Amino acid sequence: MRLRCDEETIMQNIVVIHPESLEDAVQTAHEHGSEAKFYAGGQDLMYRLKRRIASNPKYLIHLPSLPDLSYISFDDVNGLRIGPLTTITALAQSEAVRTHYPALAEAAEAIASPQIRNVGTVAGNLCQQVWCPYLLEDYACSMNGGKYCPAAVGDNSGYHAIFRQKKCVAVHPSDLAPALLAMEAEVTVLGHTGKRMLSMEDLLPGIARVGEELKVNGLRTDEVLFEIQLPPPVPESRQTYRKSRSRQSWDFATVSVAAVLQLDGTDCTYARIVLGGVAAQPVRVHAAEAFLTSHRLDVANLIQAADLALESARPLALNAYKVDLAKALVQDTLEALAVGE
Ligand SMILES: Cc1cc2nc3c(=O)[nH]c(=O)nc-3n(C[C@H](O)[C@H](O)[C@H](O)COP(=O)(O)OP(=O)(O)OC[C@H]3O[C@@H](n4cnc5c(N)ncnc54)[C@H](O)[C@@H]3O)c2cc1C
Ligand code: SF4
Repeated sequence: MRLRCDEETIMQNIVVIHPESLEDAVQTAHEHGSEAKFYAGGQDLMYRLKRRIASNPKYLIHLPSLPDLSYISFDDVNGLRIGPLTTITALAQSEAVRTHYPALAEAAEAIASPQIRNVGTVAGNLCQQVWCPYLLEDYACSMNGGKYCPAAVGDNSGYHAIFRQKKCVAVHPSDLAPALLAMEAEVTVLGHTGKRMLSMEDLLPGIARVGEELKVNGLRTDEVLFEIQLPPPVPESRQTYRKSRSRQSWDFATVSVAAVLQLDGTDCTYARIVLGGVAAQPVRVHAAEAFLTSHRLDVANLIQAADLALESARPLALNAYKVDLAKALVQDTLEALAVGE
């Protein structure tokens, strides 16, 4: 880590605000604009504050001060509702999640270390910033107020995209996001102008300019994510989440796959397949889904589906290996679901 100590980099005073209600939290965020950040478990925020990354907020709006934001509830008609401050551990251990949405429990279990899962929250996981090494070293890159992306021409061997994207080539780091997209989750957010429901594609649209900021999620600065909803599971379906990473102890996904299949013998009647670790958003692979639902699930067709899943990949100079890794992981995942593992 590069250590500097001058007026720009020395730790600034930060005001921690304890809101009285969610509406109060949103109003405070609206008043302070990009100088304020919502604080959930602090696992992402504190890491960046300690590294003195330039977008340091002046105000932290402390969401754990508010009651009733941590819950998981399930019923057969409405499906699953998850409160934003639910910890990743609580999600991984929930009986309802393990029974009805096992891929989501697997994704939660694959995140970081037990210590981080015990404190990190579901909303914080979805709203975290990218973990590109250049950003963590405070390079003045596009994501950090600068005009270019050093990773596009420099070291792009790790947490970088294999699908084409402009301005910033970092990938979205969340393990929960691909699983939630595979299960057709939606989120409700509250902002200064009211409530809105977003699909996962709207929440994580890729790198986008929101107001003045280049962001990796579609939330406005005063919008707080306050619930995640999943429809009831697809009847008779199987699902799983598989993650490949450089280190087994804790690491972000090099690539990951979330898949939901509904089978009728060896025929596939429903398929939803999402890749993680490959772009600034989880990537749903429609061509592979359509192929699977019109072909028998034999080995040749699973290989063909895996090829289709990666057919539009355009890797960078140092990450072509991720294309082969992703193909192998898709094939493995589909085979496991086909034989009921
Ligand atoms: C060492 C390390 C390893 C990690 N490994 C993984 C991994 O393998 N897989 C993975 O998926 N993640 C990983 N993470 C990320 C980790 O899961 C997230 O940091 C954590 O879940 C963030 O949750 P939090 O509650 O601590 O968020 P915070 O740090 O409090 O917030 C993170 C961001 O989300 C925003 N935010 C928080 N809550 C809301 C809300 N309700 N509405 C709007 N914005 C909100 C904050 O303003 C902030 O910008 C890792 C993190 C670390 C530090
Ligand atoms: S990939 Fe994004 S975060 Fe990394 S250097 Fe490029 S612009 Fe910055």
